[in-house]
Amino acid sequence: MSEPDVLCPLCKVPADGRSLRCPSCREDLTALARLRYAGRMDYNAALAALRAGEVAEARVLLRRALAAEPGLAPARSLLETLGAVGAAVAGSAGREGDTP
Ligand SMILES: [Zn+2]
Repeated sequence: MSEPDVLCPLCKVPADGRSLRCPSCREDLTALARLRYAGRMDYNAALAALRAGEVAEARVLLRRALAAEPGLAPARSLLETLGAVGAAVAGSAGREGDTP
C-alpha cells in the first residue's frame, strides 16, 4: 500500500502520497485514507490471526473487511475457504477411525 488512491472530496484530486493531504486545499485526508483501506487492514489482520491459528478471529476480521470493502476478492475467497475447512473439520470429526 504505497500509492493511496484517495481523492479529496472537495477538489476531486488525489491526496499527496506522503502527507495524505490534498495538494489543492491542504485538507488532511488521513481519515479518508484509513477508511479507504479499512478492508485491507482487516484482511491483513485476518491473515495474521490465521497464522496464529485463530481461525474464529480470522473469520470475524474477514467479515469486517468485506463489510468495509465488499469488492475485496481475496478476503471473500479466504472466508469461503475457511467456511469449507470448518465444514470439513466438522464433517470428519466423527470419523477418526478412518485413517489407514
Ligand atoms: Zn482539496
